Amino acid sequence: MSESLKVLIVEDSLDDCDLLVRELKKEFSPVDYRRIDTREAMLECLKETWDIVLSDFSMPNFSGMAALETLKSTGIDIPLIIVSGTIGEEAAVDLMRAGASDYVLKSKTSRLMHAIRRELQAKQKRRRLHDAEEQLRHMQKMEAVGQLAGGVAHDFNNMLSVVQIYCRKLKEFDNPQVNYYVDKILGVQNRSVSLTKQLLVFSRKQTGTASVINVSHVLQDMQDMLQRLVGESVELGLDAFNDLFNVKADRGQIEQVIMNLAVNARDAMPDGGRMCFSTSNIHFAEPQLIGAEFLTGNYIVLEATDTGHGMTKEILNRIFEPFFTTKSAKDGTGLGLSIIYGIIRQSNGEIAVSSEVGRGTTFKIYLPETLEREQPQSLPVKTETSNGGKETILLVEDNFELRSLFVETLEAKGYDVIEASDGVAALQVLEKNPKNIHLVITDMVMPKIGGRELYRRASQLDKDIKFIYMSGYFEDASVTDARSLESFYYLQKPFSEEALLEKVRKVLDS
Ligand code: ADP
Ligand code: MG
Repeated sequence: MSESLKVLIVEDSLDDCDLLVRELKKEFSPVDYRRIDTREAMLECLKETWDIVLSDFSMPNFSGMAALETLKSTGIDIPLIIVSGTIGEEAAVDLMRAGASDYVLKSKTSRLMHAIRRELQAKQKRRRLHDAEEQLRHMQKMEAVGQLAGGVAHDFNNMLSVVQIYCRKLKEFDNPQVNYYVDKILGVQNRSVSLTKQLLVFSRKQTGTASVINVSHVLQDMQDMLQRLVGESVELGLDAFNDLFNVKADRGQIEQVIMNLAVNARDAMPDGGRMCFSTSNIHFAEPQLIGAEFLTGNYIVLEATDTGHGMTKEILNRIFEPFFTTKSAKDGTGLGLSIIYGIIRQSNGEIAVSSEVGRGTTFKIYLPETLEREQPQSLPVKTETSNGGKETILLVEDNFELRSLFVETLEAKGYDVIEASDGVAALQVLEKNPKNIHLVITDMVMPKIGGRELYRRASQLDKDIKFIYMSGYFEDASVTDARSLESFYYLQKPFSEEALLEKVRKVLDS
């Protein structure tokens, strides 16, 4: 098992050079060498990269000391060893002081080989340390950007809630002209909220709900959607490993990671190409630097490769920064990869990327194995954001302000919502098409017909109809004896939008 060596030989004697190369070839293979004996030739050669420089001590037009100075003047980190027939002690000390790595007599070949190996190893160590420092700096930068983004996003989110509340107050005036503008504000407000949420994911302030998942299964479930996403001109390959380790992560977030990778790959291949997702297991017996972290133990690797236009080193250095994009304002937000970064780091994983201009890009995502078992998946696969759906919901609530808040929340997640301001109106809707309504969400206490009575009459029309009750008064007499008391079907006011969406999804899927 011999390694290669690219060596620059500073030597005036052809014979001595041949001899040296012959010895080197016994130890290294292949040996790539150039012989030079002037400063000009050396400078020219140093434009290439070399593993090591071996230099004679004295030559007619050059010298070991001059070669050393020439090398230092370029600032390039290559070890230089003086190889000489004879060398005085004083000269040797001077050379070492000037920065030579070692000096060896020409006759002592085994000592020379040893010196070369030692220098190569030392250089590799220096390079590893340098890489680790670079990674650390990069991570610190991301950490700082993340904190800044997260801090701003958090406060911004609170202010957006206030904007929303005042907009609702304005809507109470029920003035069409005012409403027109308020709706515009609410539209912008909505977009701002979703932007802020993305920033919160990046800065890991918004945590997902981790469950045990198998990324191979996630990928397989997404196959059709991914093909649609990348379009017809991109050939999509899927190589999902069967016995993949389980990992603990938020399924919705991992889907988001996969989608973002697919969109980026598509954008990098405007004239078509091939993108491939694959999964595999990996075991790190020793700590290995991946991305910004040393990993040990069992991991899964999710790999996304494309044959797109690739990236330069300058771009690569910045891709995980929020808002960094090389796309036009309408095509890119610069948030895709920073969100991926946040999600993966939050799941104790790492991400590494390699790319070459014109050749394509490979992202590798590492997630640690969990020994817990995957829960059987009873919920239908959610392809969009979690907590959404396409079902039709009848919302019965007499308070206008609350009603529109709920309608907006549900509609934003894809549901079809029919509104009713009291039990009587709700019954009329149900009588017309009981089968088309998948779920009724009703206030408990309302004039004319209350929530419980509404349920009684509705179940005469369709005995399987699903209900969720909302109430601000838990001790209300009409609630206490109803099946609504089961917390499963019950929402205590006030509740958050998330609580509403989660409950709706749960009940619909039950
Ligand atoms: P956006 O896609 O909105 O620009 P991202 O954070 O997803 O934001 O990506 C940031 C940048 O990284 C992109 O603008 C692009 O320059 C580069 N990039 C990401 N993925 C790829 C890829 N697969 N091939 C080439 N460049 C990529
Ligand atoms: Mg993107």
